[in-house]
Amino acid sequence: MEDMPKKQIPAVEGLFTMPPEEPHLKGSKCNACGDYFFPRVDSCRNPHCSKDKPVEEVLLSRKGKLYSFTVNHYPPPIFHKPDPFVPYSLGLIELPEGIRVTSIIGEEYNQDNLKVGMEMEMIIDKLYEDKDGNEVISWRFLPVSS
Ligand SMILES: [Zn+2]
Repeated sequence: MEDMPKKQIPAVEGLFTMPPEEPHLKGSKCNACGDYFFPRVDSCRNPHCSKDKPVEEVLLSRKGKLYSFTVNHYPPPIFHKPDPFVPYSLGLIELPEGIRVTSIIGEEYNQDNLKVGMEMEMIIDKLYEDKDGNEVISWRFLPVSS
């Protein structure tokens, strides 16, 4: 039983595709004004949109550019709090669709190896292990290794 892969559970249901290989975030596209949204929406949020065409579910690009980032020095309020806590980077990733997505980048990244404008790629990674031994997973954008 020891070699059995751990069950993977999304931290929040419905935000990204499963299984985690070649993952995509699930967003929405408005067919009237062309705006994209993440997370998904049921109707367009653009106040200038005619809204005369439906919003459809789309898979968003797996790659984007680092728009901004910060190194977080306090434990996150909702998810598992690692003990000891290690500062980690949070980023804002600009996707080709024209929207920006917040992402954990990770504790191995900081102002020494992150640069605004660098190419980032989405992966699915373990956030923490729950009390039943399941891996709770979420997305993360990492610098594309050149
Ligand atoms: Zn619209």
